[in-house]
Amino acid sequence: MIALFVATLLPSTIRADEWHYPTPAPNGVINEPERWGGQCETGRRQSPIDLTYQAAVKGDFAPFLFSNYMNPIRNAQLTNTGHSIQIDSTDPSVTLYGGGLPGKFVLDQMHFHWGSEHTIAGVRYGQELHMVHHDSRYNSLTEAGAVKNAVAVIGVLFHVSNQDNTHMDVVLETSQDIRDAAGKSAPLKGKLSPHNPLPKNRTSYFRYEGSLTTPTCAESVIWTVFTESLPVSLDQVELFKTIHDPSGHELVINFRSLQPLNARALVYHTDMDYSGSGAIPKLSLTLIVAAIAALLAK
Ligand SMILES: [Zn+2]
Repeated sequence: MIALFVATLLPSTIRADEWHYPTPAPNGVINEPERWGGQCETGRRQSPIDLTYQAAVKGDFAPFLFSNYMNPIRNAQLTNTGHSIQIDSTDPSVTLYGGGLPGKFVLDQMHFHWGSEHTIAGVRYGQELHMVHHDSRYNSLTEAGAVKNAVAVIGVLFHVSNQDNTHMDVVLETSQDIRDAAGKSAPLKGKLSPHNPLPKNRTSYFRYEGSLTTPTCAESVIWTVFTESLPVSLDQVELFKTIHDPSGHELVINFRSLQPLNARALVYHTDMDYSGSGAIPKLSLTLIVAAIAALLAK
């Protein structure tokens, strides 16, 4: 009976991991769709999307607060997932708050896509880093993954440059130990803080509600993609492409095709202009509120 139960369960559990990215044609163009099934094909709030200023509305959110992002990740392991390389974080004190997010979000993992999944005004970048967080009201990413807006992903874009990205070196050196086999992990050969791959400008970003970009494509994600990109060298990008997928082939690309925006709001957030008089009433209001709060506290 148990054997029968397991046998009926197995096909669907295996299938979730059997998906793959389409292989580009010799000219580098991807001609076939992903065909991942389920919500990946029927969803209306899917990711990634093309981020255009024309389609965006202006947003004004509180600043982001990154807590304990400066600390190097403890016992950091790099894993070849078969679809990317990933660094897990198990420290619940590494959290993200503010930036218009509906609560406090705990960092779970960081992984890379080569080329970028999101494009800005039609331009694809060399790479995209995803920092995946779950709402602290849920116990895990798995639990939050089924709930709308309970996952927050930060996307950092990398443009190709003459200079190596030194933070990427730590990841790439370790990746050579795990590249040949999906499922393989190795301790990171050096220190990496989640803060290292964040751009300096963390006030200019696109925000929208979307999905995971891999099966099951669950529509649980609040996306933030910073507009300031970081440098990565061509040699470094090429090294990412030597990672092997579960069938032993080189993972040449691992980005999902662009999805339609449909009826969603795309928000563009940028620095508030404090030089104009428009900022003054807001500042005085803050002071008045603070003064009232101080009086009430007495
Ligand atoms: Zn991703």
